Amino acid sequence: MASSSSLLRLTLLAAAIAVAAAVVAGGADDGGNQREFDYFQLAMQWPGTYCRRTRHCCSSNACCRGSNAPAEFTIHGLWPDYNDGTWPACCSRSRFNEKEISTLVDALEKYWPSLSCGSSSTCHGGKGSFWAHEWEKHGTCSFPVLRDEYSYFLTALNVYFKYNVTKVLNDAGYLPSNTEKYPLGGIVSAIQNAFHVTPEIACSNGALEEIYLCFYKDFKPRECAVGSILLPDTSLLKSSCPKYVSLPAYVSPGQAKTEWIASSVPQIEVL
Ligand code: 5GP
Ligand code: 5GP
Repeated sequence: MASSSSLLRLTLLAAAIAVAAAVVAGGADDGGNQREFDYFQLAMQWPGTYCRRTRHCCSSNACCRGSNAPAEFTIHGLWPDYNDGTWPACCSRSRFNEKEISTLVDALEKYWPSLSCGSSSTCHGGKGSFWAHEWEKHGTCSFPVLRDEYSYFLTALNVYFKYNVTKVLNDAGYLPSNTEKYPLGGIVSAIQNAFHVTPEIACSNGALEEIYLCFYKDFKPRECAVGSILLPDTSLLKSSCPKYVSLPAYVSPGQAKTEWIASSVPQIEVL
């Protein structure tokens, strides 16, 4: 006959199993314990700036594709955010499964490639692809608007196609160049005129590196939140950019090294 203490232990064990099952079932699709996000942020990266950092090549790095390397802004991620400037991360146990997005892989290779050779951390202590990182860290928090991996990647692509910042900048005369610098205010205005919202912009060493656009949950553009207040002209306040920025043209990694070596050779003036 079971003692009362072993019966209690059995009951607790059954309850623990039930709770664990509920967490696994719920965690896979209900955003875990984190509260629902307020809006989306689409982060886009400029390959001309990122690819300057490539020191060695590998098959996963789109900077190493030579003449087929991306020549327009590519997607970094679609990020659910809170209005107070914070954001949820790693919201469920759903692990990245490339099979779920097999029909999108060609488009993702082109418009959402990794521009680095390093593998990325995933939410469960492992390492994975750039897509695995973005889905597990950010994608899982986009519930209930985007309910699965396929919708997350497809929606990010569609929003990116609709709000084509490369075209807006090109049409305004801001073309990739390794000699020109452009006024940050002009770049911001070009995007404001096109989409009626203010982008956030990040730079590295004076070169434009990322552009962020924010959206309501129905994907209509809105201002991004900074800290606990919504500011109409956040780009200039939060920006890591100088007043004049470069928009570097792509230089293949081998060539960049040669150019760097050439430019670091002391110039001897012949009188
Ligand atoms: P960084 O420090 O390079 O700006 O950001 C590092 C990482 O933090 C980003 O790649 C992204 O995963 C996350 N992150 C930075 N800023 C934001 C933000 O405004 N919203 C969200 N959701 N994630 C962000
Ligand atoms: P986040 O900054 O989005 O949280 O993290 C990005 C992670 O993905 C980092 O671990 C970074 O090394 C890796 N990663 C792989 N490819 C890329 C890329 O093209 N851009 C950025 N920003 N990170 C990448």
